[in-house]
This record gives sequence, structure tokens and C-alpha cells, in this order.
Amino acid sequence: MIMKHALVTGGSRGIGRAISIKLVSLGYHVLVNYKSNEEEAKQTLTMIKQAGGSGELMKFDVTIPRQVDEAISKWSEVHKDGYIEVLVNNAGIRKDILLMWMEDHHWRDVIDTNLNGFFYVTRALLKNMLVNKYGRIVNIVSLSGLKGLPGQVNYSAAKAAVIGATKALAQEIGKKNVTVNAVAPGFIRTDMTKDLNENELKSLIPLNRFGLPEEVAEVVCFLASEKASYITGEVISVNGGLYT
Ligand code: NDP
Repeated sequence: MIMKHALVTGGSRGIGRAISIKLVSLGYHVLVNYKSNEEEAKQTLTMIKQAGGSGELMKFDVTIPRQVDEAISKWSEVHKDGYIEVLVNNAGIRKDILLMWMEDHHWRDVIDTNLNGFFYVTRALLKNMLVNKYGRIVNIVSLSGLKGLPGQVNYSAAKAAVIGATKALAQEIGKKNVTVNAVAPGFIRTDMTKDLNENELKSLIPLNRFGLPEEVAEVVCFLASEKASYITGEVISVNGGLYT
């Protein structure tokens, strides 16, 4: 049987970890990207194996195009018979601060990781998807990119830009049977939200709780599957009804 490959950026923790594990059920060998947290990345790999799957670690910083290209080229040289047919652009950070106080690094770091990272990694993998006339790209965006949230002008701008890119790219490559969609989570329990007060914020959410990474992974994996064959350029919210 030919092995199918999927890459999840930021697969070491949180939502990316849940997606990496869930992709096992679609029969994928999962490439778990991470930036620096090797221990957590190894833990994801262990969980993939416990789920009956296989995977490998792929360390690179999505903000550095040279690192992205080198990692992908190195992998491709070893796997001449295969290609990465599923890409989940999940790596993301937030650096919340009111615009008035925002310094260059708050803006640049958030745009670099959430927006430029999407560009560098997608560009590196796209050609093989087009040549093979099959691919699934799923971008993890945010409620913040749809609605805009105060204190997150940088993050909202980055995520809204990825939503625009999702819609544009879907039109560029639909003819080659490569789909591009986005998933927009609301508040999900991960390291990224551990400083937020769930008890206070949950009253804003119709389902009255934060979501779990696995609840996001379900939707991502549907969009990454062959079953989602006629969906492209779409943004699906997973937010407990917070904003629809
Ligand atoms: P976490 O903070 O739990 O994990 C972030 C992941 O991204 C880690 O695996 C981290 O790697 C990786 N990462 C960060 N920067 C880079 C980089 N430069 N290069 C490669 N990998 C990087 O985040 P979540 O799981 O909460 O978030 C995942 C995605 O979901 C993000 O895009 C986020 O914006 C989005 N999201 C999250 C929401 C939430 O409520 N949690 C809500 C809406 C959207 P390492 O472990 O090595 O640091």
C-alpha cells in the first residue's frame, strides 16, 4: 500500500497535536512540525503511535523561508515516490496589546508566524499537489479574523489576511483538484488560552464553555478528507455559537 503523507505545522501542542492524532484515522503518515518544543513534539509522535499510526518530526520555523524550503527539500529527496498531499497550516501565536501601545515586534512576530508562515509552507508544497492533481490545504484562522477583537489588531489582521488568501488560492488551483479551506476556532482550551478566565468568558458563549482541540480537529480532518471533495474557499467556525 502506498503511504499517504500529511504535514501539520505547529503539531507539537494544542490544536495541532489533536489534528495530528486525528489524521491517523484517515490513514496518513503524519509529519509533525514544531518550532522549538521537542519534548512536546515527541509526545505528539508517541500519541500518534498509540492511535495505531505513524509519523515523524519535522522541525522548522515557519517564519524563515530558508528553513521551510530546506526541510521540505530534504524530505522530498528521501521520499521520491511520495508527496505531502495534506497541509494543515496551524502554527500560530498571539501577542495581544492595544494598538496604541503596540511595538514593531508585536506586529511583525504575529504577522510573520500567522500569515507569512502560511505563505512559505504552502508555496513549498503546492507544486507537488498540482502535479499530482490532488491536495487538501486547511488553514487554521480564528474568530478574531472574522469579527476582529480588541487588543488583537495584529492577530485579527493576520487571520483575516489568511482568510482572504484561502479564498483567492482556492480559485487559483481548484481545476487541479486541490482544495483550500479555513477553520476558525473560538476559545479553545490550549496553552494559547491558559491565561484567560474561562469562568468569566463562558457566559458569552452559547454552549457555555471553551472548546476542546479535538472538536476543532474533527472539522479539520473532514476538510482534509476525500469526503470534502466539493468544498473549497470556505471558512467554517468552531466556536460554540460565539459568533456566527
Ligand atoms: P498553542 O500555543 O497551544 O501551540 C502553538 C503551536 O504552534 C506549537 O506547536 C508551536 O510550536 C507552533 N509554533 C509557533 N510558532 C511557530 C513557528 N514560528 N514555526 C513553527 N511552529 C510554530 O496554540 P493553539 O493550539 O491554541 O493554536 C493553534 C492554532 O489555532 C493557531 O494558529 C491559533 O492562532 C489558532 N487558534 C487558537 C485558538 C485557541 O483558542 N486556542 C482560537 C482561534 C485560533 P512549539 O511547541 O515548538 O512552540
